Amino acid sequence: SDGNIGAWVADWAQKVLDEEPALTDLDRRAGDGDFGTNMVAALEQLDLTEMRNTYSASTTFDAISQAYLGHAGGTSGALFGIWFRHFFRVAREGTLDLATIAAAARAGLDNITALGGARPGDKTMVDAIAPAVDALEEGVRLDGVRADVLQRTSEAARAGAESTEVMVASRGRASYVGEAARGVVDPGALVIAWFFECAVGH
Ligand code: ADP
Ligand code: MG
Ligand code: MG
Repeated sequence: SDGNIGAWVADWAQKVLDEEPALTDLDRRAGDGDFGTNMVAALEQLDLTEMRNTYSASTTFDAISQAYLGHAGGTSGALFGIWFRHFFRVAREGTLDLATIAAAARAGLDNITALGGARPGDKTMVDAIAPAVDALEEGVRLDGVRADVLQRTSEAARAGAESTEVMVASRGRASYVGEAARGVVDPGALVIAWFFECAVGH
């Protein structure tokens, strides 16, 4: 089964909107404080009820990638737009099964690292995405059950996001604050962890 992708993404978008103050606070402590605003600027473009109840996978990822690319500022607007654009590309071709989710996430990771130059350990969304891609690809290789693989993927992404707390940043605006970033989870990595957590069960 390819699950209910509209519900997955709508669950995630609602969680990000609900947590906007907390996300803003993280970027205020290790960045310039606009992360939550940038997320809301994109996500408020979407009709989440329609997405949840009627959108196909390709319509869902088309809408959310365009919302980020067209309406959100900051680094995250461009990088999340690109991330979701790769999910749109695979969804447009057919079923969003584990193999195509893994392919989209791999393409997204490669594109984000090519553009931004971040590697794991730099305190960015890459710290959550890279372990998630590894977990997805291993699940595909071992022909795992969708729900189990998505569960392991979400745990890998969550652990990766939490690992950013002790880091100082070497990419993005958090790198400008040096040691002050230590003790602050990277908000981009955190919302990526939520993305995979919301996938479990869809
Ligand atoms: P800005 O830094 O332009 O204010 P945002 O606050 O919207 O952008 O987004 C910050 C998030 O972007 C960070 O939490 C981090 O996850 C991500 N980020 C910043 N720089 C990079 C990079 N070079 N590669 C990958 N992700 C990055
Ligand atoms: Mg910012
Ligand atoms: Mg900014």
